[in-house]
Amino acid sequence: MSIWTAREIPSSNRPIRFDASLCIGCNRCVEACHMDVLIPAEEKGSHPEVLYPGECWYCGACVMECPKEGAIRLVHPLMNQTRFVETMQEES
Ligand code: SF4
Ligand code: SF4
Repeated sequence: MSIWTAREIPSSNRPIRFDASLCIGCNRCVEACHMDVLIPAEEKGSHPEVLYPGECWYCGACVMECPKEGAIRLVHPLMNQTRFVETMQEES
């Protein structure tokens, strides 16, 4: 029998946050990720691990697939968190 191990590839990106109190460990988010960013936890019932944070496309598929609201959250990089605010132009 072969035993495989995997280690996290370091990245300054932290795209995915789990709430361990809400996650039921169903791994639907793992299945939904087309970039294989996530892997199932070693311990059954625990939230998945973020193995390749630098490969995340921020598509949100993992969050949309999750049956427990709030168990997984997508955090966009700071530079992408721009919010456009309407301003009034002063009349001259
Ligand atoms: S946001 Fe998209 S690419 Fe990133 S972990 Fe979720 S499913 Fe994968
Ligand atoms: S975050 Fe959601 S989809 Fe992913 S394992 Fe937990 S409950 Fe399942």
